[in-house]
Amino acid sequence: MNEFRLGDILDDYCAKCKRLTNHAIVSLVGPEPAKVRCCSCYKDHDYEHAVVPPTKKELKAMALLQAQQEGNAKPN
Ligand SMILES: [Zn+2]
Repeated sequence: MNEFRLGDILDDYCAKCKRLTNHAIVSLVGPEPAKVRCCSCYKDHDYEHAVVPPTKKELKAMALLQAQQEGNAKPN
């Protein structure tokens, strides 16, 4: 059984702390956590499924790669 309950602690990414921290579940939608509260800064936010968003550096690298691929796709 892997049921979530209000107040359960899970790992999630906190945009304020800029890292994975412990979060308490503050609201559920069906069986899934909808909102969580960071146990470090007490900020409430949507549950991110512990996904760490790409950094600005990674976004830039991805954009460069995409531009390169688009450049290759076009005939010269
Ligand atoms: Zn936080």
